[in-house]
Parts: sequence; structure tokens; C-alpha cells
Amino acid sequence: MKVVKLGGGCLRDGRSFLRAANLLKYERFGQTVVVVSAVSGVTDLLESAIQSALATENGISDIIKRLNDLHTGIVRDAIIDQSKCDHLQKLLQPKFQAVERMLYGISYTGEVTESVRVTILSQGERLAAIIFAAVLAEIGKNASAFEADRIGIVTDSAYDNATAILPEVRKNIKEKIVPLMRKGIIPVITGFFGQTREGKTSSFGRNGSDYSAAVIAHALEASEIHIWKDVDGFMTADPKLVPTSRSIKTLSYFEAAELSYFGARILHPRTVEPLVGTNTRIHIRNINSPENTATIIVESGKEEEDVIKSVTFNGDISVLRVRGAGVGHKPGIIGTIGRALADANINIFSVLTAQTCINLLLDNKDAVKGIDALRPHIGGVIDSIELRTNVALIAVVGEGLLIREGLAARVFSAVAKKSINVEMFAAGASDVAYYFIVARDDMEKAVTAVHDCFFGERECS
Ligand code: ASP
Ligand code: MG
Repeated sequence: MKVVKLGGGCLRDGRSFLRAANLLKYERFGQTVVVVSAVSGVTDLLESAIQSALATENGISDIIKRLNDLHTGIVRDAIIDQSKCDHLQKLLQPKFQAVERMLYGISYTGEVTESVRVTILSQGERLAAIIFAAVLAEIGKNASAFEADRIGIVTDSAYDNATAILPEVRKNIKEKIVPLMRKGIIPVITGFFGQTREGKTSSFGRNGSDYSAAVIAHALEASEIHIWKDVDGFMTADPKLVPTSRSIKTLSYFEAAELSYFGARILHPRTVEPLVGTNTRIHIRNINSPENTATIIVESGKEEEDVIKSVTFNGDISVLRVRGAGVGHKPGIIGTIGRALADANINIFSVLTAQTCINLLLDNKDAVKGIDALRPHIGGVIDSIELRTNVALIAVVGEGLLIREGLAARVFSAVAKKSINVEMFAAGASDVAYYFIVARDDMEKAVTAVHDCFFGERECS
């Protein structure tokens, strides 16, 4: 069996819906499931609609009109038969109404709960699934749309960063989806969200449909997942920063996970989680050059001659330096700090500790909130907190990286030759990745220096 996931970049207008549907023309009977993202830009639109509704109700009708026009336009362009178009419009209307009502509710009360927020964001996928199933029918395929929260994609209760409860999902998919596949129906399932045991909509976070595809692949024991995007898969570096970067043919699960975690925006970082132990192959494919797989991701890795497969970056982080005499000795201090941040819903990206200082890498958006959360502990376990902004993290990734001698020296000498100061460095936490921190202004130069060293015309030593 095969799971085909269509990213928002492949779902932009009527033409791209038809093009994506045609990719499925020759799928084998009863062997394929489709997972869709929202139409390109729709989740962002819904996110900003929530923000603006919190401030005023004035923009709501405009937003609903934009949402309606965009989806109606796609239907009109992709489906010829007028009565089919009309029928489809009727199916979409309740979704627009749901968004509208929830937005007015937010405006009226001036607040939004996590579950309402996620329910609004999930409408993009619901709309896309209905339209895509109809477009498949248009090219002669028997397809039906399914909403993840109606078919039992059960999750824990972390609303924005939920984890699927795999045994329950497996049971539900076997009961609700497999029998339809046996009848030759292609299920088109919404990505990005699921439902808690209490019946609330929960999401896997932005770009979470990749993870949804993996959860469904796990449930179906699929042998492959094809993730369609509008870019060339994983690259040796971000081509926007390094124009000479190349596509990577093969990665291991862990390499793909670390690259995604440290900044490559190709795959949701948690995609491989449900697949560990299954040997499912993930094909990342580019809709603009559909003949070949751009990158294939396999369970076990292979060490390449030069070890490093890619260099990536994250310029959206800050470092909180938490100081205190002997913080490195005091039992429970990391627990105390971790709990204080978790209570404020702040994720710690990475931690580096020493005898007198704990360095917490946080998302920029959480930095100030993080200080506030830790402030009550100043004078207790903490002496002072310092915030370091305008930094960037550079990570190198490759199987065998920790055991190959001389590799770190090559990375750092490449950076040093460009007179870039390395402020922090962390290795050993993962077998396939390490990272260092530089000033934000040096980020581009540092990525290019490392990339040139390992992938440039002349090898560096
Ligand atoms: N539509 C959601 C987002 O834009 C999920 C996804 O695209 O995977 O984040
Ligand atoms: Mg997306």
C-alpha cells in the first residue's frame, strides 16, 4: 500500500488540483490513500483571521469572502459540469459558515481557546479534501473525502503539538478506511489534525500533514509514502542561501529528522516517528519535475565518503543564559527550569550546561516569555538571567559524523577562515548531527563556508 501526500504548494488553483489528481491516474485498485494539506496560503490566512478577530470583527466578512472566492474559483476551474460544481459548493458552504461563526465568537468574547483555534485552522484541510476528492472523480477515479477527526485519528491532548495514539488509529483505520479501499475507493484524508479522546480537534503543528501521512502509513502498514511538494526535496544547503547546493538522493530516517529539526523546511520534523521499525520508504517528489524522486528516505542510514550530507540553519532562536553558583551541581535545577517553562507552554529547543551557567535555546517568540517564567526563581536556584538574541544555529548532519575523526576540525576551520566566531558548540546528543551558534549576521557566511568546504569544487582540509 501507498500513501500519497499532497502539500499546499501542489494545491494552488484549479489547474494544480487537476495536475495533482492526474498523478494518481494509474494507481493500483485499492492500494492508495491520499492525504491533503490545505490550499497554499489558507492556513496562514486562517491564522491571521484569528488574530484580527481578537482585535475587531470588522475584517471577518472580507476574510470569509476571500476564503470562499479562492475555493469556489478552484472548483469552477477544475470541474466542468455545472451541476457537479453546484453540488460541491453546497458541501463547502458549511465550512465557511463554521469559520465565520467561530471568528465572530472570538471577536465577541475577545478570547480564543486552543481547541477553537485548531478547529478554525483545520478548515483549510477539510475544504481541500472535499475538492480534491471531487477532482479525482472528474478524471474518472472513485474517491471520497474523510475528515481525520471523523475516522479516528486519535491523539493526546497537546492541542498544537499533538501525538497520534498509534494503536487506536490503527484499529480505526482498519475498520473505517480499509473496507472502502477494498471496494476500489481512494480515500482522501485531511492532514494536519486529529481528535483527542475527549472529542476536541487537535493539531500536529504547522506543516503537520507530513506527520499525518506517516501515521496513516503506519496504520495501513504501507510500504511507501510519496510526499509531493513544489521544491527539489532535501538539498545540501538551502538553495536560497547557497545557490550551488544540490539535491540529496538518499537520507536515513534520523538524518531527515535532524535536518528538519534544525531548520530544513522540507519535512515536518516528527514525520519519521511513527515509521521507526517499519522500513517504510518516504519519497519526496517535486510536482514540477514528476519523473524522478527528489529524495528518498530509508530507515537505516549509509555513511557517505565525506560523511556530511547537508548543512542547515535556524535564525529564529535566542539563548537564555541562566546563571547561578554551582548550577551544574544542584540536583533538580534543570527539572525546576524545565517545569517553569513547560507551564508557560514554552518548548526548549536545546540545552547546554556548565558549572555556573545553563544555556537554553528557545524560539525567538518565546524568549521574553521565558524570562518571565523563570523570574520567580531568581534569588532561589538562579542568580541571574541573560538573554542573547541575534544569534543563529548552524547544524551539520550525516551518518557517521560522531565517529569520523577530523570532521569537526574541518567544519570549524572552514568557519574560522571566514573570521566567524563560534559562540557555542554541541555534539554528541545525536549520532548524526551537531550544531554551533554564531552571530545572526554571520549565519549566511557560516553556512556557505561549511557548504563550500564539503561540497565545493575544492575539498577543504
Ligand atoms: N496546512 C497546514 C500548514 O500550512 C498543515 C500542512 O500544510 O501540512 O501548516
Ligand atoms: Mg504546508
